[in-house]
Amino acid sequence: MITLKGKGVSAGIAHGKIIFLCRKTFVPKKKKITDTESEINRFKAACVEAARQLLELAVKTAEKLGKEQAMVFETHSMMLEDDIEFTGPVIKIIQNENVCAEWAVETISVQLSIEFAKMEDEYFRERAIDIKDVATRVIAVLSGTQTKFTAGSEPVILASDEFTPSETAQFDRNNILAIVSQDGAANSHTMIFARTMNIPAVIGLGKALSKDLSGKDAAVDGEAGNLYIEPDKNTITKLKKKETKIKNEYAVLDQFRGKETKTRDGRKIRLYANIGSADDADAAINSDAEGIGLFRSEFLYLERDDYPDENIQYESYKKTIKKMAGRQVIIRTLDIGADKQAKYFNLPYEKNPALGMRAIRICLTQQTVFKTQLRAIYRASVYGSTAIMLPMISSINELQQSKKIADEVRKELTAQKIDFDPKVPIGIMIETPAAAVISDLLAKDADFFSIGTNDLTQYTLAVDRQNESISEFCDIHHEAILRLIKMTIDNAHKAGIWCGICGTLAADTDITETFINMGIDELSVEPSSVLKLRSKITKI
Ligand code: PEP
Ligand code: MG
Repeated sequence: MITLKGKGVSAGIAHGKIIFLCRKTFVPKKKKITDTESEINRFKAACVEAARQLLELAVKTAEKLGKEQAMVFETHSMMLEDDIEFTGPVIKIIQNENVCAEWAVETISVQLSIEFAKMEDEYFRERAIDIKDVATRVIAVLSGTQTKFTAGSEPVILASDEFTPSETAQFDRNNILAIVSQDGAANSHTMIFARTMNIPAVIGLGKALSKDLSGKDAAVDGEAGNLYIEPDKNTITKLKKKETKIKNEYAVLDQFRGKETKTRDGRKIRLYANIGSADDADAAINSDAEGIGLFRSEFLYLERDDYPDENIQYESYKKTIKKMAGRQVIIRTLDIGADKQAKYFNLPYEKNPALGMRAIRICLTQQTVFKTQLRAIYRASVYGSTAIMLPMISSINELQQSKKIADEVRKELTAQKIDFDPKVPIGIMIETPAAAVISDLLAKDADFFSIGTNDLTQYTLAVDRQNESISEFCDIHHEAILRLIKMTIDNAHKAGIWCGICGTLAADTDITETFINMGIDELSVEPSSVLKLRSKITKI
């Protein structure tokens, strides 16, 4: 057994096969084989597995995006059964040339893609990419590499140098036991996403986490920050005991389910959950959250290769709002930029992306994108209590401009006789020091405040949240942060609006009492922290 020590950033125990994330498409090499029969069987088994993945993908896509979008995977699946165009020719190459299946698949894929690309009919020309896609999937299965997170396979511990937020957004929770990486930062969006999805995670394992470990049996302790390679019986027994202990702790917390979140002297605090997708709403409900305090809508943008259209967004917001059945859902408008990059936004290269084109700045620059999102939120608002929350506000002008655009959207919907709730509150995140300092002025135009302590901390202390190597300089309880929080709460109350916290600090039970003394109205945390926080509040 080898023990690799890193930093645990998302608690939980996992045991299974470790697989290295393969970003680049695997380029097969021509390898001579002697046993053609077993190579053909290997190819056939890979086709069966690829078909299974495609079926799973089709079902999920149909659920998420509708049947029409899912058709593409059914077409891919049919290709795997096409004896004349695909499987037959691949088998012939293996037999005639005594080459490995990966090489044979690649050869046929290139041949077919060229033929299709030359065709007159646009429909067939476009199929060239489908052929490539299916071939890549089969090759990935054959070579044991994983190129797409959405591809179904047995659940694994996924390893990488570092995961990007858009990769994490595409994780299928059912297929990921845990994530482990060489680098990474505890408060990066990637790790926030992992915690939201309840995926155990260990970062900072360094180069010792090498690709040679791929395929080995491993275990993860996301709290202690340990990765065990080929764990011995003793370690597995200890980890199992720890897992049971965690479950028991949850069981104790279960007594707080269905209870009000009140301090001992009867002050009520709204206890909400942070989510990243409509699916996460289930975790929020299971955790007994009283609402959604932060729906990170950028997931919708990060998990695809093109802008999600109005309907895709509408369906996702509607699903979430309906699931929450009357409990408030605060949807944060897109917070793309900095570490959350979606290629199709075509954002220019920036030397300091955290200080660059992100969040509200993109919305005000690409207003069509912003309007599409606002239309989707307003349309979904008829299904329950909805609020809009604007990220990264640093001036009154940005807030007023955003509200003007929201006003235009409401007028458009009214003219088109499309139903929406005209009273949807528009609040802002306080996550720049500028916003906290002028919170008295912003409070006049905002319906509520929610403090984003992750960004507020990085901008106030000038400590990059992505850079783990300077984490010792990041005092999360720094007096400057506490003063800005207090100032923001006071200014909100003076203007008669509520103020919450939705950054990671909201879940820090060491400081809950301070927030309550400051007068905080709402705390929004990852679903797994809801009951723990309720238990804490009831003792204050
Ligand atoms: C924050 O900055 O505290 C916040 C909640 O937003 P995010 O972590 O998504 O930047
Ligand atoms: Mg933020």
